[in-house]
Amino acid sequence: MTSSSRASAAPVDVLVIGAGVVGSAIARMLAQYELGCTVVEAGNDVGTGTTKANTAILHTGFDAVPGSLESRLVHRGAELLRQYAAQAGIPLERTGALLIAWTTEQAGQLADIEDKARRNGYLAARRIKADALYAREPHLGPGALGALEIPDESIICPWTTPLAYATEAVQGGIRLVLHTRVLGIRESNGMHEVRTSNGVLRCRWLINAAGLESDHVDAMLGGDSFTIQPRRGELIVFDKLARPLVNSILLPVPTLKTKGVLVAPTVYGNVLLGPTAEDVRDRSDTATTAAGLSSLLDAGRRILPELVDEEVTATYAGLRAATEHRDYQIRIEAARRYACVGGIRSTGLTASLGIAEYVLDKLAGAGLPLKKRGHTAPVTMPYIGQAGIRPYQDRAKIAADPAYGDIVCHCERVTRGEIREALASPLPPADLDGLRRRTRAVNGRCQGFFCGAAVASLLGDQASAGRSR
Ligand SMILES: Cc1cc2nc3c(=O)[nH]c(=O)nc-3n(C[C@H](O)[C@H](O)[C@H](O)COP(=O)(O)OP(=O)(O)OC[C@H]3O[C@@H](n4cnc5c(N)ncnc54)[C@H](O)[C@@H]3O)c2cc1C
Repeated sequence: MTSSSRASAAPVDVLVIGAGVVGSAIARMLAQYELGCTVVEAGNDVGTGTTKANTAILHTGFDAVPGSLESRLVHRGAELLRQYAAQAGIPLERTGALLIAWTTEQAGQLADIEDKARRNGYLAARRIKADALYAREPHLGPGALGALEIPDESIICPWTTPLAYATEAVQGGIRLVLHTRVLGIRESNGMHEVRTSNGVLRCRWLINAAGLESDHVDAMLGGDSFTIQPRRGELIVFDKLARPLVNSILLPVPTLKTKGVLVAPTVYGNVLLGPTAEDVRDRSDTATTAAGLSSLLDAGRRILPELVDEEVTATYAGLRAATEHRDYQIRIEAARRYACVGGIRSTGLTASLGIAEYVLDKLAGAGLPLKKRGHTAPVTMPYIGQAGIRPYQDRAKIAADPAYGDIVCHCERVTRGEIREALASPLPPADLDGLRRRTRAVNGRCQGFFCGAAVASLLGDQASAGRSR
């Protein structure tokens, strides 16, 4: 059940704070067991925090810190998400990546990075020379000296992924409480009593997956082992006409602070340039800046000169939940029946299912009773990628229901049938942005200039139908 009504209810076995990709992955896994669970989320939808604004790469973990928890969970998470995406209809393309050396110093680092990949359990990376690199990427700027090829790096839909997890969780009986912020937590009669902006929730076990607020929630339980230092990443989305310029994800040689500025195709057929890496104070500061975008264009001009002459569709920024530590901050406290799943910085989309599996395993060890339910139904999400068949291209679907041939958003070829389906789904969107993340409507080159009113009116019709029910 999705609810925005008062949060208060009978005590539950497990309460998850945060419905980003991590909290949703955990909820999906909890739904497979005989437990009463609630997810409480401050936003009006699933995946409205860092999860909605990233670079959308399914990493192999080749460049993680060997031996770290992040390395282990990215590796495992990628394996699980690759399988899950195929089953749930999440757009995913195995484009491969090329980590490019532009200076002799960087060329000298490629062997070390290849060795690091091996130490991270990734064995398929191999060095290629400049001529092979330019054969693969003919539009690359001049001066590249060679590259490390990572054939399994992939691009994935960052919006469908948490929605698929949360849909499966809700269909499995998990209660999702939106518009509800956790304000304080105290222990009372063997239960956590969680005060929210919308009433009091009581639970036996508590999981903190609050992303950029995970340290604050941890502090509500007395934790003080990490502080979130938001690291803003700005990105530029180029028009679909730019897509033929690039075949793989083009990576720079990383530094200690950042993976650096990359060029990557998206599963919607665009090209991304970014992200920047800038520490900011405000945990909600997702504004783009003239300086940030200009630095991206400078980097892009070097990597793929023709790209910067293409039209820009959109710009956006996301905040990484960086901390003073170089690893995830996952801690299970058996005595307090509490799991802190914080500081999931720049790889959480990839690692999400690995994190969920790890946390549940540790909670089981701490005494959370995990008894499998008899049957759990997998979900199939509406396909919004560019590489497969979309409804407007599907003659049989249109013949069965002409609404799938009635295009409303022309830039992204989104039909009335898809919008209707999203509005009637188990997790309907709360606003235009939620509808965009479910269908791609208003996500194209006109950014809703042409179709915005028509799309908003379909959304409005649904809202008034809901009010009169
Ligand atoms: C620029 C950038 C590029 C990235 N690129 C990639 C990439 O290519 N591949 C990859 O795998 N990862 C990438 N990441 C990282 C990835 O996006 C994150 O690791 C992941 O989204 C973190 O998910 P989360 O669920 O922990 O946090 P969030 O998505 O932020 O979710 C936390 C949720 O908790 C809620 N919340 C917070 N406080 C409270 C409270 N008190 N009460 C109730 N709810 C609360 C928030 O509203 C939010 O919805 C990137 C990140 C950025 C910023």
